[in-house]
Amino acid sequence: MEATLEKDGYVVTSLESLLNTARTDSLWYLSFGLACCAVEMMEAASARYDLDRFGMCPRPSPRHADLMIVAGTLTNKMARAMRKVYDQMPEPRYVVSMGSCANGGGYYHYSYSVVRGCDRIVPVDVYIPGCPPTPEALLYGLMQLQRKVKGLKPNKHYSEIAR
Ligand code: SF4
Repeated sequence: MEATLEKDGYVVTSLESLLNTARTDSLWYLSFGLACCAVEMMEAASARYDLDRFGMCPRPSPRHADLMIVAGTLTNKMARAMRKVYDQMPEPRYVVSMGSCANGGGYYHYSYSVVRGCDRIVPVDVYIPGCPPTPEALLYGLMQLQRKVKGLKPNKHYSEIAR
């Protein structure tokens, strides 16, 4: 947050900056586990990686969620349901595409039944490479999203920690 300390006890900032900081540290995520990547997402939420310390809690209701993590293979059959759930999320809403399948179909790119990337259905803010991405890669991607929400540029070396 860009803030100026005028005197002891006074901080001047914009409302937008304040709201973005609040949003950054409370990205409740609607998990959208579709396949094996979802296991890594669950691990990221476990005690070892502890997503809660970033203010990120799993939320089963789209109406209370800020972020959708698309983890796994999106099929044509599921695409309509995913869009419907996304449309039920309040603005501002964010999407993280986790893993090769969600990014572009992955191994199933040429399958008749698989969507070649969830960004054909919903707008994606951050793509996380890997099959599957590690929980560390997911964490890093989520930290990139936090930077984006704050209006900062992403860090470099994004691909270096992906499998
Ligand atoms: S990217 Fe790999 S691990 Fe993830 S859903 Fe696809 S096949 Fe499974």
